[in-house]
Amino acid sequence: MRALVRFVPTLALSTALICSAVAPARAAAAAPPKVPEAVGYGGAVASVDADATAAGIEVLRRGGNAVDAAVATAAALGVTEPYSSGIGGGGYFVYYNARTGRVSTIDGRETASRRADSSLFLENGKPLAFADAVTSGLSVGVPGTAATWQRALDLWGSRSLGEVLRPAEKIADRGFVVDQTFQDQTALNQARFKDFPATRRLFLPGGGLPVIGSRLRNPDLAATYRELGSKGVDALYQGDLGADIVRTLQHPPVDPASGRVARPGKVDQSDLAAYRVHQQQPTHTDYRGYDVYSIAPSSSGGTTVGEALGILSHSDLAAQSSTQYYHRFLEASRIAFADRNRWVGDPRFSQVPTRQLLSPAFAASRACLISPDHTLTSPLAPGDPYHPAACGSSGPAVTETYEGQSTSHLTVADRWGNVVSYTLTIEQTGGSGITVPGRGFLLNNELTDFSFVPNTPGVPDPNLPGPSKRPRSSISPTIVLHDGKPFFATGSPGGATIITTVLQVLLGRIDRGLSLEQAIAAPRASQRNATTTAAEPGFLALPERAALEALGQRFGDGGEIGAATGVERLPDGRWIAAAEPVRRGGGSAAVVRPSR
Ligand code: GLU
Repeated sequence: MRALVRFVPTLALSTALICSAVAPARAAAAAPPKVPEAVGYGGAVASVDADATAAGIEVLRRGGNAVDAAVATAAALGVTEPYSSGIGGGGYFVYYNARTGRVSTIDGRETASRRADSSLFLENGKPLAFADAVTSGLSVGVPGTAATWQRALDLWGSRSLGEVLRPAEKIADRGFVVDQTFQDQTALNQARFKDFPATRRLFLPGGGLPVIGSRLRNPDLAATYRELGSKGVDALYQGDLGADIVRTLQHPPVDPASGRVARPGKVDQSDLAAYRVHQQQPTHTDYRGYDVYSIAPSSSGGTTVGEALGILSHSDLAAQSSTQYYHRFLEASRIAFADRNRWVGDPRFSQVPTRQLLSPAFAASRACLISPDHTLTSPLAPGDPYHPAACGSSGPAVTETYEGQSTSHLTVADRWGNVVSYTLTIEQTGGSGITVPGRGFLLNNELTDFSFVPNTPGVPDPNLPGPSKRPRSSISPTIVLHDGKPFFATGSPGGATIITTVLQVLLGRIDRGLSLEQAIAAPRASQRNATTTAAEPGFLALPERAALEALGQRFGDGGEIGAATGVERLPDGRWIAAAEPVRRGGGSAAVVRPSR
C-alpha cells in the first residue's frame, strides 16, 4: 500500500486579492441541525449532510419517488460535499423496484481515455510518483455522474432532471453554512487548491480557509445545474460543458507563479461522447436467508463483501463470543481481500470470476482456513475460484492498490417501498484539486485507483490502465431483502475500507442484534490482508482487544473509518433513516412524516 499522500506547498500563499464566494457574515450562521436517526412514514433519506437530506425529503414530499429523491440528494451533495462528490466524478447506483421486486444497478464509474494504455502512469518506464498523479489532468477519468442521474431518472424516476436539480441550485445560489468538517477538509487541500486560481476563488475565499459559520455560495455550479436541466446531459457529453472539462484536464489551469507541474490528461471530447453507463446484474449473496444485493465489477464491493459473507456463513456468528465474532470478521475480510486483489478489475478487459467468487463452493474452500485459536499470516495467497480446493491457494499473495478515502453515500426509500443505495465519488477528498473554471465543480482523480504497475511482479494484474477502462473500485452500495421485501440498505465512503465497513454493518445488524443506527455507530476495524488491522480508537479501546491479540491479531490506529448511512423498513411500514452520530461531523437522517 502506498503511503498516504501529503500535499506539499510549493509557494507561500498568493497575496493577490482573491474574489470571495463567501457572503460577508453579519453573524456566524449555524449549520442546519443534524439528526442521526429518524423514524416515520412517507419515505426516508440518509446522507452525510443536512441540506442534501432536506433536498431529498423535499422531492419525496412533493410526490417524487426514491430515484428522484436520490438524484436530488446527490446533486445537493455536489454543492455541500464538493470534495467528495459531484458531476466531476462517478459512482454506483443500486435500486430496488417495489413493483417488480427486482434489484438493478448502474455502473457510472469514471473511465480512462480511449487513448490510454497500461503505460498511462509510467514516465521513462517508471511509475509516476503517486503525489504527482493525484493533482493532475492525467488522473481525471470521463465523469459518469451526470449520465448516471439521467439514466436512473429515465428508467425509474418520475421527475425531469431539471426538476430534481432545483433544490441543489437553490443551495448553490444561497450558499451553505461552513462547518468544522468542511473547513478541515479544505485545510487538508489548501496547499494545492491555492495553485489553481479557479479552485482558490471558489474554496479559499480571500485566500484563506472558509470561516466556520460563513456561507459558501457557488453561483457557477447553480448555473451549470440549470444548463444541465435545460439542455440535458448532452451539454456535458457533447456540448460546451464537455469542451470546458476537456480544456481543463488537457491544460490544467495552474497559476504559473506557483511553480506547480500538473500533468495534462488524455481524455478528449470523443471520449466524453463515447461514455456510457453500464446497467448490469447486481451481485447476490444468500446470507442466513437474507438476500444481499450489491454492485458487480468494475467495483470489487459486491464480490468482496459477498465472499466474506459466504465464508462467515460457516460460523454461527450470533452464538459466538464477541472475541470470536471480531476474530472471524477480521479473518473473513483478510481472505476476501487476498482474492479481490488477485481477481477483480474491469470485466470488459479481463475475465473476472464474479460468479465463482460468490459461489458457496469457493466460500467453503476459503472458510476452512479460519481457525478459532490463531490468526492467519498476511499477506495471504489468493484462492482459485475456478477450481476451489479446500484451504488451497493459487500463486503468490497480491498486495493492494492504494485508494484514496473520500466519497459520499446516500440511502433513500419512498412511500411505495422503492429503495436506492448510491455511492458517488471524485476519488480522494478534493479529487484532482482542479476546478473547471466558471463551472463550479472539481474534477475527479479516479484513475489513480488503477495499479500503476502490476502489484506483484509475474502475477496478472486485472487493474492496470487500459483504453476506455474503469479502475477497480471498492464502493459497495448494498440492499438487503427478506422474503423479497426490503429489510435494510447501507453503504459508506472510505476507499478500500468501504468493504469492511459495509460488512461490519451487515454483521452488526443481521448477526449481533444491533439496531441499524447502532451498527453504523459501532467502532470499526478494517483488515485487508495486511499484518496489521487498521482500527478506530474506539475499536482499540474494546475490552476484547487483549483476547484478539492473544489469537495473533495485530492492530494499528486507522483514525476514523467510513461514514455510513442506511434505511430500514419496519414491519409496520414505517422507515428508519440512520446516519453517523459522530464520524465526518455526523450525518443527517430524516423521514417525510416522523412518527416519534
Ligand atoms: N476511489 C474509491 C473507490 O472507488 C472511493 C474513494 C472513497 O470512497 O473514499 O473505491
